[in-house]
Amino acid sequence: MYTKMLVLRFPAEITDKPLICSLIRRLDLCFNILKAKILPGREGLMVLELSGYKRQVNEGLRYLRAQGVKIKSVEQEIRRNDDVCIQCGACTGICPTNALHMNRETMEVIFDAKRCTGCELCMAICPVRAMEIRFSTDKVLV
Ligand code: SF4
Ligand code: SF4
Repeated sequence: MYTKMLVLRFPAEITDKPLICSLIRRLDLCFNILKAKILPGREGLMVLELSGYKRQVNEGLRYLRAQGVKIKSVEQEIRRNDDVCIQCGACTGICPTNALHMNRETMEVIFDAKRCTGCELCMAICPVRAMEIRFSTDKVLV
């Protein structure tokens, strides 16, 4: 099973189209909506986990792009500012996917963006706001 963790941005003029529904029906893909903020007539944002055969997932991405959806991986949209992080470890207990975890040998807090689902729990707990997420739904539609 091939899985992609994606950030989808829907331009205002297509937010009323049932694109995800069409995508799943056409290509027999599995999906899990992790976050969404979509209102008619405004730019929409969705964080989506998409799974299936690789060829079908890639075909699905081509379909969405052809409809005008802008697609990035979650990995491209989140980073830890290592100039700010004080390695306190507070985030490691709350991260549900172990994207933030402690290397027990070096006692270094590691950030593995490939495991991140964009839940934003680390943003709330980090005392120095070292985690930077571009797709926070709070930044959309205000
Ligand atoms: S947003 Fe933060 S807490 Fe959530 S999975 Fe990603 S690194 Fe972990
Ligand atoms: S909570 Fe913030 S400062 Fe502490 S280790 Fe995690 S990212 Fe770094």
